[in-house]
Amino acid sequence: MKGIFPIDKFQSLRTPFYYYDTKVLRDTLSAIRAEAGRYGNYSVHYAVKANANPKVLAIIRESGLGADCVSGGEIRAAVKAGFPAGKVVFAGVGKSDWEINLALDYDIFCFNVESIPELEVINQLAAAKGKVARVAFRINPNVGAHTHANITTGLAENKFGISMEDMDKVIDIALSMPHVEFIGLHFHIGSQILDMGDFVALCNRVNELQDKLEARQIRISYINVGGGLGIDYAHPNRQSIPDFKAYFATYNTHLKLRSYQTLHFELGRSVVGQCGSLIARVLYVKQGTNKQFAILDAGMTDLIRPALYQAYHKIENISSERPVETYDVVGPVCESSDVFGKAVDLNGVQRGDFMAIRSAGAYGEIMASVYNCRELPQGYTSDEMI
Ligand SMILES: *Cc1c(COP(=O)(O)O)cnc(C)c1O
Repeated sequence: MKGIFPIDKFQSLRTPFYYYDTKVLRDTLSAIRAEAGRYGNYSVHYAVKANANPKVLAIIRESGLGADCVSGGEIRAAVKAGFPAGKVVFAGVGKSDWEINLALDYDIFCFNVESIPELEVINQLAAAKGKVARVAFRINPNVGAHTHANITTGLAENKFGISMEDMDKVIDIALSMPHVEFIGLHFHIGSQILDMGDFVALCNRVNELQDKLEARQIRISYINVGGGLGIDYAHPNRQSIPDFKAYFATYNTHLKLRSYQTLHFELGRSVVGQCGSLIARVLYVKQGTNKQFAILDAGMTDLIRPALYQAYHKIENISSERPVETYDVVGPVCESSDVFGKAVDLNGVQRGDFMAIRSAGAYGEIMASVYNCRELPQGYTSDEMI
């Protein structure tokens, strides 16, 4: 065993696979519980889209978090894992009728509605069932997050949400509908946000909108500020638990929550990101003209973030203590973007070495594909390796 990985247990497993360190996950969940718990009326949902591995979901459910879902499949996965339907919220810019019906049948806590046509369909489908659906509007706060363009979602030109100018109108429509109950507002400005100033900007915007509503004598009980807290991809060991203290304190300081309101959060990456690593074996070391390549049996089909978002993941050769050399670390898939890292310093690489691609617990396994007719990677927890 080198460092935190039980390499002897890895020998018999087919690579590539995801390895989830359950101690890191449980410590992360404890930190969330402790820091959110300081404020009494904070309710945290886990954003299932970050990782829906049933073993991971089971541990998160045990900690008492609710679930934030963006599809009918995620609602099913959450309920199957034991999340109470009364703690499920459902967002998404394109909800199919069957997904809305499924959510109505489960009596989920709230639909986070992203357009007027969607609101009309929810009202119709709820009427057919003789039910009243709780709804909140996802408002586009036009707050920029300082993160990668593909993962910022709160700007006016994004496809998500309803513009602030339309807020009054959509609320009036909802208040006139017999089969929806308008309960509050939802926001989500983006992902991998490390600058607390971005969340302060969101708080200020929420305060403005609340003042507007109160001027109209509209009281809401539910405010949902989404997720987005980032993780330290450069230092997965030194900072394995994100700064939840600063995160929740930012909201406590800047968001003027009324006594009858509950503040909801939807954290994904910050819950599961650091507990997971993609474990691969080195197939070949290939000498190029000016560089050498470490060619892995894992590729962009197993972890697409580097190809999709130019994301950085720390890579370690966990089999080797040999002197450090520099490699381009690549996968076997027939795409030039199938590269995990360029000019990476690694302990000398040989065929058969195990490589760990770190901080891969979020948007890793769940985004795997079968492109090139590859098999999906398995996911194992450290609990299974004892
Ligand atoms: C993806 C998503 C989240 C979670 O985002 P993270 O950056 O992983 O915390 C929360 N809410 C909504 C609506 C989302 O789409």
